[in-house]
Amino acid sequence: MTWDRDNASEDETASGGSRDPVIGGGTNVLDLGPAGAAPTLVDPFGRAITYLRVSVTDRCDFRCVYCMAEQMTFLPRRELLALEELDRLCSAFVGLGVRKLRITGGEPLVRRGILGLFRSLSRHLSAGALRELTLTTNGSRLAPHAADLAACGVRRINVSLDTLDPGRFRQITRIGELSQVLAGLDAAVAAGLRVKINVVALNGINDQEIPALMHWCAGRGFDMTVIEVMPMGEIGSHNRLEQYLPLSALRERLEERFTLTPLGVRTGGPAHYVFVEELGLRLGFIAPQTHNFCEGCNRVRLTCTGRLYLCLGQGNSADLRQVLRSGADDRALRTSIRCAIDRKPKGHDFIIDREHTRPAVDRHMNVTGG
Ligand code: SAM
Ligand code: SF4
Repeated sequence: MTWDRDNASEDETASGGSRDPVIGGGTNVLDLGPAGAAPTLVDPFGRAITYLRVSVTDRCDFRCVYCMAEQMTFLPRRELLALEELDRLCSAFVGLGVRKLRITGGEPLVRRGILGLFRSLSRHLSAGALRELTLTTNGSRLAPHAADLAACGVRRINVSLDTLDPGRFRQITRIGELSQVLAGLDAAVAAGLRVKINVVALNGINDQEIPALMHWCAGRGFDMTVIEVMPMGEIGSHNRLEQYLPLSALRERLEERFTLTPLGVRTGGPAHYVFVEELGLRLGFIAPQTHNFCEGCNRVRLTCTGRLYLCLGQGNSADLRQVLRSGADDRALRTSIRCAIDRKPKGHDFIIDREHTRPAVDRHMNVTGG
């Protein structure tokens, strides 16, 4: 279906249709042993897979110019995994040694009943099988949900915010309201959630504002990460080459104004962290094109249709929905997951330059959630 401006801001809770079933208490819920006893997923390059990112919907109430085209065709609802199925898959991964779950999207907080999934998954935190349950959000629905998320054991969240200027915010998100995101951040702070702000560096759009964003984050006690534009999916009339700002160039500019001390923290992810001495700010750089981050990769990505992507920048995937819906028991499900991990590629091939203006992969970032 086409998601137009009129219903883009509609909450799925208000959109009719059948409710997702109650989750977490059914017969399909895996019984997990203690964390230390869990087997580990290891890919062919010896990388332990301990982190699963789950896109619970491809829909979003924004249309960020680097992420989506203005007119997007979203999946019919019947294609989506029910929350109970998402719970079963996440639980299978936890049983196989995944220690961190990130719920993302599209915008995860527009998925109807999503708090039920958080509540259900929090049992793995209580059991000690999962170390962290977290989410990445655009912040538009955070105000009503922050306290409930904290009650589910969420301790830190990533909020994407590319500018503090309301007009520029509208220009970047096409339909977003900055004030809603700021209210969401206030609610997150009030609920005791730690916040990291994700900023996509956009040449000629928000790059001049990045020092101001750094000051603002430091003042609010937030961490901040800048992200290089990645060539994923068609984005209509917008041109990625024009948007693209190599983070190596941004970092050089920042070093003229600030002292950036490398922190040497590695999270198994793409970010390199520095400490900004003048501000007391922890600043991350995610630069897939200017700094290849694949060698320590510890993660895989599950889409809302149950497709497991083994690398953000490659097409290799496995259809776990088909496995679930064919009536697989827990043992067969685990075997399918292990077989998929055996096909994890070594790394991605992101390049943006004049010869490579087409997306490196056809799917948009909202399919896998970043
Ligand atoms: N809607 C949520 C949000 O914006 O935080 C979660 C999903 S969004 C796809 C996850 C992250 O991917 C966001 O921080 C967003 O800025 C980033 N992102 C989206 N498209 C991107 C692209 N083409 N290149 C780099 N980052 C991108
Ligand atoms: Fe939506 Fe996040 Fe993509 Fe922006 S980056 S359009 S908020 S999914």
